Amino acid sequence: MSEHHRPHDPDASRLADRAQMDPRRRLVYLTFSRTVLVVGTLAAVGVAWTQPTQTHSQLLWLGPLLVLGFLLAEHLTIDVDIRQVGWAISFTEIPLVLGLLTAPFEVVLAAHLVAGVGSQLVRRLTSNLVYNVGVMCLEIAGPFAVYALATEVLPDGAPRWTAAVLGTLASSLISVALAVTALNILRGEPRLPAALRLAAHTLVVGLLNTSVGVVGYEVAVSAPWGWALDVLVVAALVALYRGYYGLLREQRDLETLSDVSLSVARSGQRVAGKPGNLLDGALAEADTDEWQKIADRIREQLSAKRVVLRLRLDPVAPVRTLVAGKPLPEDAPPSRDDPILQLPGSQVRYFRSLDAADDVREALAQRAAHEALVVPLRGSNQLLGAVEAHDRLSRWRGFGRSDVQLLRTLASHLATAMDNRRLLARLRHDAYHDPLTGLLNRPGFREAAVDRLRRHAGSMVLRIDLDVLSAVGDALGHSWGDRMVIAAGGRLREALGSEVPLARLEGGTFAALLVDCDEEEGRRIAEQLHQELAAPYPVDRLSVEADAVVGYVQVPVEPADDGDADADVDTLLQWADVALRAARNAGDTVRGYVPSMGQIFLRRFQLVTQFRQALDTGQVRVHYQPKVALPGREVLGVEALVRWVHPEFGRLDPDEFVPAVEATGLVDALTSFVMDNALAKVRGWLDRGLRLSAAVNLSVRNLADESFPDRVAEALRRHDVPPRLLTFELTESGVMADPERALPVLRRLHALGVVLAVDDFGTGYSSLAYLRQLPVDEVKIDKSFVLGMGTDLGDMAVVRSIVELGHSLGLTVVAEGVEEDAARDQLVEMGCDVAQGYLISRPLSEDRFEAWLRARTVRARGRRDETVLTLVR
Ligand code: C2E
Ligand code: CA
Ligand code: CA
Repeated sequence: MSEHHRPHDPDASRLADRAQMDPRRRLVYLTFSRTVLVVGTLAAVGVAWTQPTQTHSQLLWLGPLLVLGFLLAEHLTIDVDIRQVGWAISFTEIPLVLGLLTAPFEVVLAAHLVAGVGSQLVRRLTSNLVYNVGVMCLEIAGPFAVYALATEVLPDGAPRWTAAVLGTLASSLISVALAVTALNILRGEPRLPAALRLAAHTLVVGLLNTSVGVVGYEVAVSAPWGWALDVLVVAALVALYRGYYGLLREQRDLETLSDVSLSVARSGQRVAGKPGNLLDGALAEADTDEWQKIADRIREQLSAKRVVLRLRLDPVAPVRTLVAGKPLPEDAPPSRDDPILQLPGSQVRYFRSLDAADDVREALAQRAAHEALVVPLRGSNQLLGAVEAHDRLSRWRGFGRSDVQLLRTLASHLATAMDNRRLLARLRHDAYHDPLTGLLNRPGFREAAVDRLRRHAGSMVLRIDLDVLSAVGDALGHSWGDRMVIAAGGRLREALGSEVPLARLEGGTFAALLVDCDEEEGRRIAEQLHQELAAPYPVDRLSVEADAVVGYVQVPVEPADDGDADADVDTLLQWADVALRAARNAGDTVRGYVPSMGQIFLRRFQLVTQFRQALDTGQVRVHYQPKVALPGREVLGVEALVRWVHPEFGRLDPDEFVPAVEATGLVDALTSFVMDNALAKVRGWLDRGLRLSAAVNLSVRNLADESFPDRVAEALRRHDVPPRLLTFELTESGVMADPERALPVLRRLHALGVVLAVDDFGTGYSSLAYLRQLPVDEVKIDKSFVLGMGTDLGDMAVVRSIVELGHSLGLTVVAEGVEEDAARDQLVEMGCDVAQGYLISRPLSEDRFEAWLRARTVRARGRRDETVLTLVR
C-alpha cells in the first residue's frame, strides 16, 4: 500500500472562490485554468491520435472496472497536515498503471473523467470543473505519452512494466506541478524548496503505488488464479489501512480534544485571574485568542474549509462569532430562524445542499458551503453556542462518521469546560461584588486597589458614610433603606466614572480609590461626593434627606515598611475611616487623615478589642458618686460610673473608652455589667434598711435595642429591687439621634416604673417643650453650667431657667458638677432638688463609698418613718 500526496485546496478547487480573490490573482487563475483545459484537451487529442487504435474484447467490462478503480482509489484517502497545508493521500496510481497496461488511452481517460467529474457533479462542486477536467486530461494524456516514448527509447528486452511505471510517475509529477502552480497563484505558496520536497515525496509514494499496481497485474496475468490472490491481498491491505487509519484518526482526535479542553481551561484561568468586572473588556479580548485557537484546531482536525464558533459567553453579551479557515461570505449574523441553527437536543446534525430542503440549501448558500456539520454547545441549563464545520476539504468525500463522532465529543467537552468557566467567573464575580449595589465589595476593592496602588503614584482612598439610613429604614421599611443605598451607589458611580474602583463596604459605607490625584483635587472630589449624596432622595412620593461624611487619606502617608500591599489597602481604609470619624465628631463633612489621628485610633482600636476581656478579668469596676437632696442633705442615691484600670495604659477615663465601646456591639455588655453591680449594691443597702437608688448611664445603642426593657425587668426581678430605685440617665442627643426607635423603648422602661433622667441637659438642641413629649422624670443640668455659675451670669441664668421650667413640667431637677459651697447655696436658693458633685464626694470605689457613708452621714428618721442617711456638716 502506498500513498500519493496531493494538495487539497486546488484539488477541491474551493480556494478559488472568485468573489474573494483579488482581481489580478483571479485573472491569472482564470487564464491558468483555461490554459490547463486547452492544453489538457490538446494533449488528449494528440495522444489519442498517435495511439494505435486497438479493439479489445475485454473493453466492455474493463471500462466500468477502471471507473470503479478510480472512484475507490480517490475515496480511500488519508488526510494529513504538513505544515498547515492539508494533503490527501490517495491511491490513484494503482488504477492508472493498470489502465496503462491493459486498456487503450480513450478508455482510461473516459474512466477517469467519469469518475472525477461524476463525483464532483454529484456533490454539486461545479465551480472549478473547467480546471479539473483539464487536469484530468493531462493526468492521463501525460502518462500515455511517456509510456509510448519509453517503449520507443527503452531497449527491446526491457519489460513492459518499466514503461508503465515511468508513465504513471509522470502523471503524479504533473498533478503535483499543477497543484503547486495553482496554489501559488491563489495563495503565493508553497515556495520552491517546499514544492521540490513535495515532488520528491510524491515520487516515492507514486513509485510504491505503481509497484503495487504492477505486481498485482503481473500476478493476475501470469499466476493461475492470480487475480484471486490480488483480491485477497487488496482486501487484507484495505483492512490494514482502515485499522491504521482509524488508529491514526483516534489518536489525533484525542490530541485535538485535549488541546481544546486545555485551551478552554486556560481561558478560564484567565477569567479567574482577573478581579471583577473592572477588567471585563480587556478580558474578553485576551480570551478571543484562545477561542480562535480552538476554532483553528477543530477546523484542522476535521479538514474543514471553515469552522464557525458561535459563543454566548455570558447571558447578557451578544453572541460572539469566531471563524477559522476561510472567512464567511458576509459578516451578517444568521437570522433567528436559520434552519441550520435550530438545534434541539445535543446531537450533531449534518446538512448537505445536495439533498436538503430549500431553506437549508439557502442557509448553506449564505455560508458559501455545500455541507455543514453543526452541533450545539449545551451547558447545564442553557445553550452556550454552536459549532459549525463547513465543507470537508476533499475532492471526493464529505464529512464522515468519525467526524461526527469527534464533533460530538468536542462539543460536550467544550460545553462542560465553558460551563465550568462560567461558574468560575460567577463565583469570582460574586466573591468580589456587593450583590445589592453591584459595586465591588471589600475583597474586590482590595484586589482592584492593590493593582492600581502598585502602578500609580499619587493615590487617594476615600471613605464615604451615608447617614440617617436607620431612620429611613424604620420609617419606610428596610427595602427603602436598600433603595437609598443603591441610589447613593449610583450617584457615586456617576460622579466618579466607571474607571474608579468603588466599593460598598457595609451598610451605607462606600470606599473609592482615586489615582494620580493630589490632595487639593482629592478634597474637591470628596466635597463633590458629599454634595451628591446630600441631595434629597425621591423615595416613592416622599423625598428623603440624607447626609454624608467623607474621610480620605493620601497615599502614601508614611512609606510602607513592608511590601504587603493587601495589608496596605486595609490600613488605608482604616485611616480613611479615622479621618471620617474625626470629621463626624467635629460635625464636619469632609476631612483628610493626619497621622496623629492614627495614634488615637490605634489606642481606641486596642481598647475596643480588649474590653470584653477586661470585663471578665475585673479590670473594669463600678464607682459610685452620691446624689443628695437640697436643701436637706439627705443622701438619695448614687450614680454608677464605670472605671477601667488598664494594665498598660493605667486608669482610663470613661470619656475615652465608653464612646469606643459604644461604637461596637459591646455596649450591651457594659450596661448590663454596670446595672448588675448597681442593683446588687441597692439590694445590699435595702438589706441593711437603707433606701438608696442607683443611676445607670445608657447609651444610644441601648435605646435602639428592643429587648433592653425585658432585660431590665429581668435584672430587677433577679436582684429583687423595686423599679423606683433604678434610674437611667440618657443624654438628649441619644434620644434625639433616633427618636422613632428610642421612644418605644423609653415608654416601656417608664412603664416598668424605672426613673428616667435626661443627662447633660442644656448642651443639646432640644427645648424643654420637647422634653414634655418624653416619658422622663428628671433633668440633670449639665455640669458645665453649674461649674460656670460662680463666674458667668449667663450660666447662672441658664441654670435658673432650667430649674424653673423643669419644675413647671413636674420634673425633678438635678445639678451635677457641684464643687463649691457657693454653687450649692445658689442652687438651694433657686429651688433645685438634687445636687451631685465633688463638693459632696468624688465618685468612689465600692469600699471607699461604704467608708464615706459611715464617716460622712448619719442615720435619721425620715418623714414616712423610714431610715434616711443625712450628710453631716
Ligand atoms: P456623666 O454621666 O455626665 O457623669 C458625670 C461625670 O461628671 C462623671 O465623669 C463624674 O466623675 C463627673 N463629675 C461628678 N462631679 C463632678 C464635679 O463636681 N466636677 C467635675 N468637674 N466633674 C464631676 P466620669 O465618671 O468621668 O464619666 C464621664 C462620662 O462617662 C459620664 O458623664 C457618662 O456619660 C459616661 N459614663 C460613665 N459611666 C458610664 C456607664 O456606666 N455607661 C455609660 N453608657 N456611660 C458612662
Ligand atoms: Ca450621668
Ligand atoms: Ca452629666
